[in-house]
Amino acid sequence: MSGEQSDTPLARLLKGEIRQHGPISVSRYMQACLTHEEFGYYRSKQAIGSAGDFITAPEISQIFGELIGLWCAAVWQQLGQPARVHLVELGPGRGTLMADALRSSGILPAFVLARRVHLVEVNGTLRDMQKEKLASWASDLTWHEAWPEDSVFGDDPVIVIGNEFLDALPADQAVFQSGRWKSRMVGLDGEGAFQFTAGGAANGDWGSDGIEGEVRLRSPAQDALIGKLAHAAGQRPLVALFIDYGADRAGTGDLLQAVRAHKYVPVFEAPGDCDLTVPVDFSAVGQSARTHGLSVDGPVPQAEFLGRLGAVERASRLMSFNPGKAGTIDSGLARLLAPGGMGSHFKVIGLRSSHVPVLPGLEEAQP
Ligand code: SAH
Repeated sequence: MSGEQSDTPLARLLKGEIRQHGPISVSRYMQACLTHEEFGYYRSKQAIGSAGDFITAPEISQIFGELIGLWCAAVWQQLGQPARVHLVELGPGRGTLMADALRSSGILPAFVLARRVHLVEVNGTLRDMQKEKLASWASDLTWHEAWPEDSVFGDDPVIVIGNEFLDALPADQAVFQSGRWKSRMVGLDGEGAFQFTAGGAANGDWGSDGIEGEVRLRSPAQDALIGKLAHAAGQRPLVALFIDYGADRAGTGDLLQAVRAHKYVPVFEAPGDCDLTVPVDFSAVGQSARTHGLSVDGPVPQAEFLGRLGAVERASRLMSFNPGKAGTIDSGLARLLAPGGMGSHFKVIGLRSSHVPVLPGLEEAQP
C-alpha cells in the first residue's frame, strides 16, 4: 500500500524523515512503530486478548501465571527467604500473569509479606487496565515506565519476569551482500512505499560470513536491558526469567513480524497500528548475559519448563474443582504445551547472579 492518503500518521512522519535524511535502520523503524510518543502501537492500543491483535500464554490459561507465581516463590526460598524481595514484571500486558501469580503464591504467607511488586509498562491504556485488575493487591504495587533506578531495590534481591517482552524490543538487521554484512535499512521505492534497502557496512559483530542475501538480527535494546539487569545484580542478588518465541540459534525465516487482529500482515502495513515483533535469539541473550557477568540457565522449550513445574498436575486439580470447565482447562493447557506450537516455539531462559543456584525448572547452559 503506497497511497499516501491511506497512510497512517506515523507512516507519513517516517516517510518524511526518510525523504529528508535517507533510509532509517530497522530498529529505528520498529522503535517508532512500537513506542513513538504519539503514534506508537504500545502507547495506547489495546493489543492483547481475543478482541485485540494477539493472544499470549497468560490469556490462554490461568495455569501459566499460577506456575510462574509458584516459581517466583521457589526462587525466593532458594534465596534464603529474605524479609523483602522485589518482584518486577516487564511488559505486564493486561496484568493477567501477575494476578494469577500473586494469587497462586499466596499459599506462602511469608512470601506474601516479603514481596514488593513492580510493573514496568510503557502503555498508558494497559497500565490503567493493570491497575484495575491488580487493585486488590494495591498496597505493594509500583508502576514504572521503564526499568527503574537500582536504588528502588535497596539491598533486597530482585526477581524479574518477562513474557513476550524481549520480542518487543527494537532490533537491527544486516544483510550479507557481495561478501560482507551490510546494514539492512528501511527506505522508499519509486512509488513512495516502504522497502528494505542495503546500506553501508554493518557496524558490530554479525558473526561468520553468511550466504548471499542472508539476513541476520541483533538487538541493541536487548543488550542494553541485560546491561541494566547486570548492573542491578552488582549490588544485590538478581534473577530474571524470560519467555518468548524464538530460536536457540539465530536462523533465517521471518526476522520481523507484523500482526493485526490475530493475522500476520506485511511488515510495512499500517505502521503504529500493528504489533511488530522479532523472534528472540536465545543464544545472543545468553551470550550478552554472560558478557555482563550473569550466569545463564536454559533455554528450554516452554512445554518442558511448564511440565517440570507441574502444569499437568495443576490442570487435573483445577478440573476436579471445576468439572464444568474441564474442557476449557484442558484445551488451554494443550495449547501452552503443543509440540510444534507454543510448547516448542516458545522458550524459557533464566539469568542470575552467579552465586545464586540454578533456577527451578531449568538447567545451567553450557557456554
Ligand atoms: N506479558 C504480557 C504482554 C506481552 S506484550 C502477556 O504475556 O500477555 C508486550 C508488553 O510489553 C505490553 O504490555 C507492552 O505494552 C509492553 N512494552 C513493550 N515495549 C515496552 C517498553 N519498551 N517498555 C515497557 N513496556 C513495554
